[in-house]
Amino acid sequence: ATPTALLVGTGRGAQRGILIKGPEVLESSRGIDAVLLDKTGTVTTGAMQLTSLLSAREWGGEYEDPELLRLAGGLESASEHPVARAITNAARESLGSRPGRLPTPDNFQNHQGRGVSGVVEGHEVCIGRRWFMRTQEVDLPTEVDDLIERAEARGSTPVLIAVDGKFTGMLTVSDTVKESSAQAVEQLKKLGMTPVLLTGDNAGAAQRVADEVGIEQVIAEALPEDKVTAVQRLQAEGKSVAMVGDGVNDAAALAQAELGIAMGTGTDVAIDAADITVIRGDLNSVADAVRLSRRTLRTIR
Ligand code: ADP
Ligand code: MG
Repeated sequence: ATPTALLVGTGRGAQRGILIKGPEVLESSRGIDAVLLDKTGTVTTGAMQLTSLLSAREWGGEYEDPELLRLAGGLESASEHPVARAITNAARESLGSRPGRLPTPDNFQNHQGRGVSGVVEGHEVCIGRRWFMRTQEVDLPTEVDDLIERAEARGSTPVLIAVDGKFTGMLTVSDTVKESSAQAVEQLKKLGMTPVLLTGDNAGAAQRVADEVGIEQVIAEALPEDKVTAVQRLQAEGKSVAMVGDGVNDAAALAQAELGIAMGTGTDVAIDAADITVIRGDLNSVADAVRLSRRTLRTIR
């Protein structure tokens, strides 16, 4: 039988926008000592903006900026990823009042945590991180490494684009930290949890966000499977782990953690995998949820 106090606890949570899957979840939040925080959409707003576009004309790229952006926007229109939304929005804006909506891709493929590919207006287009371009057998001029490095050092997120197997340009996108994140991180620390920023994004972008919100530990360039490993590693050290995320790429890690918390603003896949959903998608609600569990458990014991 479920103690009444636990049911009351889950009810209190619901009133505050903290949806707890079952009363037993409160038990698992008891001894949490590490909290892994996804970056994009969890610590940051996830509303990424396109900050630069460089068409690779000097390396034989065939496309001018507007055309390149249209192809990129067309391919990314099939993806829900924050990087994709930044590119698609910018492409739609640049088309302005001109007729001709974004082209839709054929054979669209989402390469989780790496990039996307597909056929746009008869051209093979792929967009993603440097390493993804390698796997797509796209040759990159050596100067590109420098461009990527500089963008990453600025804390932004560069992605490369190739058309018909040829490197065609680089786009950079950038994200802003949620207003409440820094304060929430402080709260989580006060509750005795060590925060770790966990992201598929590059180390420069990750570090910028970590510095801004006061997180000392960063794990960057993590593929979805690496996110699971990060949870397991802490568990192997005897830690009880909470994972907070919003993306498809967080789902497996949310399930692996002792306590999985999804942003209500995130994907259904993340919400399904989590034990708790915070409706407002605010990190303060994460601290609230932990406080609520502890208080509820105290009344039972
Ligand atoms: P995060 O952990 O920050 O949510 P992801 O694992 O979803 O990040 O993505 C990691 C990286 O993979 C992105 O920073 C980007 O370089 C690349 N990527 C993922 N999806 C896309 C996409 N739709 N278009 C271009 N690049 C992408
Ligand atoms: Mg995310």
